[in-house]
Amino acid sequence: MTRAHNFSAGPAALPLSVLERAQRELLDYGGSGMSIMEQSHRGAVYDAVHNRAIANLRELLTIPDGYQVLFMQGGARGQFAMVPMNLLRRGTTAHYVDTGTWSAHALAEARRRGSAESIWSSADDGYQHVPTAVDVPSDSAYLHITSNNTVVGSQIHARLDGGDVPVVVDMSSDILSQPIDVTQYGVIYAGAQKNMGPSGVTLVVVRDDLLERSDDNLPETMHYGKVAAKNSMLNTPPTFAIYLVGLVLEHLKELGGLEAVAATNAHKAELIYRTIDSSAGFYTGCVQPAARSRMNVTFRSPSADLDKEFVSQAADAGLIGLKGHRSVGGLRASIYNAVPLESVRVLVEFLEEFKRTRG
Ligand code: PMP
Repeated sequence: MTRAHNFSAGPAALPLSVLERAQRELLDYGGSGMSIMEQSHRGAVYDAVHNRAIANLRELLTIPDGYQVLFMQGGARGQFAMVPMNLLRRGTTAHYVDTGTWSAHALAEARRRGSAESIWSSADDGYQHVPTAVDVPSDSAYLHITSNNTVVGSQIHARLDGGDVPVVVDMSSDILSQPIDVTQYGVIYAGAQKNMGPSGVTLVVVRDDLLERSDDNLPETMHYGKVAAKNSMLNTPPTFAIYLVGLVLEHLKELGGLEAVAATNAHKAELIYRTIDSSAGFYTGCVQPAARSRMNVTFRSPSADLDKEFVSQAADAGLIGLKGHRSVGGLRASIYNAVPLESVRVLVEFLEEFKRTRG
């Protein structure tokens, strides 16, 4: 079997050791004679898997008491709606930082639910830069940011302070890629399918005091407080996805936790950006250097035709998923936690070789 060098934006690469363990455990989980997929979510076997995943998330992300850890469904886009459904009371306004496609979708969804405004946007320069500070009205319902913009390949590196206004962050594409200070945030949410596991489960970390805002008439499965009160088992959770998230978390702990993971991620990103910057203009990065993402490296070759050729030749060489998002074109290498350093080295060699033959 040959494993591809997988640079997909999500669903994305998973650690090989996690897949192998899932394969070993698939038919008979822990001597139960059943797959974890076949276990009741009310049984002791699954309960242990569920609670271990939550405990490991708390440990890896240093989530303090006073925050709930929820597993929900509906993806990050579901959260675009659930955040305002839970936090945006009538008569209040939420404020959004617009750093790309996903932020814009989040704002549009909030506007379907109530009053929401953009307070900062880099749409005018094609989302090439990110803010280092924002001014939030003190009576804002919440400040929404997207820590890493998967499509344009930008990442907010500064701490955006909301003062007393709770900061809500869509961390779908950089969660678990580096240590974070959870106490900066009121809500953190992320789809699992980039850095955490397979698609089908969405992590929501929410500060206790915010649970009181939710209207009792919300659908129960979308009501943060009601889901929290049932430890994310109000209805049947996506058990197999949560089990796989649990395996990924154990793997991250074995690697030495998020400090170690962040150091490797910085190294991987540096190798590719250095190749782009030293290509004498053959490759150009799509965002300003200060806004560059360590998860999604976006760049272009001299023409759209060459980009196309790049993607097809790369695929022939076993490098998959390098086409830019359909809305922006160009090239994109997503280098989430589970993309091995070795794959990045192979990509760097390919970048150099392609430039040599086409430059
Ligand atoms: N936010 C960001 C930053 C994303 O990258 C994505 C998916 N690529 C989404 C939201 C949407 O996520 P989902 O498909 O889980 O709804």
